[in-house]
Formats: sequence, C-alpha cells, structure tokens
Amino acid sequence: MFHDMQYTTSLDTPLDLLIIGGGPTGLAIAIEAEKAQLNYLVIEKGVLVNSIFRFPANMTFFSTSLNLEIGGVPFISHLDKPTRREALEYYRRLLESYQLKVKLYEPVLVMERNAEGVYEVKTTKGCYPARHVAIATGFYDIPRLMNVPGEDLPKVKHFYDEAHPYVGQRVLVVGAANSACDVALETYYKGAQVTMCIREGGIYEKVKYWIRPNIENRIKEGGIQAFFNSTVKEIRSQEVVLNTPDGEVMLENDFVLAMTGYQPDFAFLEKLGIQFNGDEQRTPVMNPKLLNQTCRAFIWQAWCRLDWIRASCSLRIRGIMGR
Ligand SMILES: Cc1cc2nc3c(=O)[nH]c(=O)nc-3n(C[C@H](O)[C@H](O)[C@H](O)COP(=O)(O)OP(=O)(O)OC[C@H]3O[C@@H](n4cnc5c(N)ncnc54)[C@H](O)[C@@H]3O)c2cc1C
Repeated sequence: MFHDMQYTTSLDTPLDLLIIGGGPTGLAIAIEAEKAQLNYLVIEKGVLVNSIFRFPANMTFFSTSLNLEIGGVPFISHLDKPTRREALEYYRRLLESYQLKVKLYEPVLVMERNAEGVYEVKTTKGCYPARHVAIATGFYDIPRLMNVPGEDLPKVKHFYDEAHPYVGQRVLVVGAANSACDVALETYYKGAQVTMCIREGGIYEKVKYWIRPNIENRIKEGGIQAFFNSTVKEIRSQEVVLNTPDGEVMLENDFVLAMTGYQPDFAFLEKLGIQFNGDEQRTPVMNPKLLNQTCRAFIWQAWCRLDWIRASCSLRIRGIMGR
C-alpha cells in the first residue's frame, strides 16, 4: 500500500534527527528513530535503497538474508543468499511496515551549524533544521579510477548491470575481488571472450569460497585468460595495452569492465563539515568522549558520523557491517 511521502520541504521546528541517505544503514537508523518516537526524516537523493537498485540486475548477495535483516522484520528469500530483486522487495516492505518518513529524489547539498548549534541541511528542494544528523551515504557513487588514458571512453564501464550487452564481445575485466570475479564469470558463461587484468599475483584471497574455485578453474583451463601482476596502461577504441611482467601486451578489445571498487564521496562529506584523520583509509575524526570502542568501530565501518549516539548504540545491522 502506498503511503504519503510528500512531507513538507522546509521546517520551522528543528527535527530531532535528520538522516542523509535512504540505504540499508539510513533505514536501520530510521527504524530506531521511529521506535524511539523521534521527530526524524530520511532524505535520499535517488530511489529507495538507491545503491542496491543500481547493483547488477542478477546479483546475489554474499550475506545471508538472516544477516541482512533489520528492524526485526524477517527477510524471506528463496535460497539462503537473497537476490537484489528480493532485497528491493524487503526494503519496500520495511518502508511500509514501519511507515518510515523518507523523502526521495532530493540530494543533500551542504550542511551548516547555526549559532544555536542546530544543523541546517540544504537540499535541492529545501532547508531542514535538525538537532542531530546521521550521515549514511555509503560508498557506491564514486568508482576508484585507474587513471589511465582512454578511461573516459564510452566502452569503459565502472558499474556493471548485466551480461547481455557483452555477448560475443572481447571484454577486459579489471580487478580480482568479488565483483570482478562475478562479472568475469557471468559474462564468460553468457558468451563473452573474457580476459582479466589483475594487479596482484592471484585472485584476491578474500573472494568468497564458492566463487574462488570457479574463477580459478576457468583461468586454469584457459576459458578465461588472466594477466597477473599486470596493470592497464592505455585504453583505445579498438584495443587495450597492458603492462605485464613480460612487457607491454596489446589486446583487441570491445569493452573494459573496471571492477576496481568504489569510495565514499570525501568532497561531499567535507562539505558537510566532516574532518578526516591523515590515515590511508581516511577515517573520520570522532569525539572520543562521546563514543565507546564499539560505537567507533561501527561508525567507521558504516562510513557515517552519528551525532545522535543512542541510535548508533542501538543499531543492529549485522550482515551489512560484517559480511
Ligand atoms: C555488488 C555489491 C555487492 C554487495 N554485497 C553485499 C553483501 O552481500 N553483504 C553486505 O553486507 N554488503 C554488500 N555490499 C556492500 C553494500 O553496498 C553495503 O553493505 C550497503 O549497501 C551499505 O548500505 P548503506 O546504507 O551504508 O549505503 P548505500 O546502500 O550505498 O546507501 C547510501 C544511500 O545514500 C544516498 N546518498 C548518497 N549521497 C547522498 C546525498 N548527497 N543526498 C542524499 N542521499 C545521498 C545514496 O543514493 C544511497 O541510497 C555489496 C556492495 C556491492 C557494490
């Protein structure tokens, strides 16, 4: 049943909590806010669970449906690991059953704190005052680039949807983690001629145990060709050039599927006023007086900073955080 999601675009009284991002983390926080009868609002720039909506069409999660459950709502899937389609159904049901207050298609642009200590969160449609803000914007918007000539050609994809466009095509898959192996296998089984370019000397050791033997065997038998300890040097419209231990190799090529991972939008987070430590992972600076060890680990993994501590302590997003 559809319920009214057209909340007012501007508010006079500050919200108790404004949640930026309507992904699983944002929804889990919203459920806790709903249970605590807070005056809260989720603002999402795209569709509900926008990142998951943009995941590969035939994707199966690595986590079990039990581990992805939030808000105590059972997540029923046909097999132990749910599909993207089942997950979308689940999150729609969550929205309905908790009647969560979510505004969609409204990107948050910037946030400032006024003299009274109230956050003013500006979006494309309005401005929302809030006493506390949870940032749950994930990391699926900005791909990690290879930074090589030709990476901006239309044949280079950083987001994979499905195998059909690659049938009968010469495809280079870059990377050796779960997504790269999944993509290499799916396109290979659907009839693409697949080559992998892998920076390390083997398939990433944390690749899931049911994927790893499959990809290793396809490489061993020659169905999928793999260049290890190799990087992409240049991408041209008809070919790619790889740097390999045996020197430069030029391959005829139709598509490059760069499964090199994604990163949080640090520029956006900085615009919201978040500061980062100088470490490699760019962990956010947090107030140690407010947070215990568990909370800190949780927040770092979730890539969100919760000013509202009660929410972070009561959250239970088991699979999402620790797959
Ligand atoms: C292919 C793939 C498979 C995965 N499989 C698993 C798995 O099996 N198990 C697991 O635990 N994890 C898995 N992950 C990781 C998974 O993405 C995260 O666990 C999960 O999506 C994190 O949820 P989130 O709400 O923190 O972030 P997201 O799902 O990314 O949600 C963030 C939301 O914030 C919104 N947003 C961003 N910027 C703004 C803005 N300026 N204004 C408003 N809204 C904004 C985005 O549109 C998005 O909807 C997988 C990831 C990928 C890419």
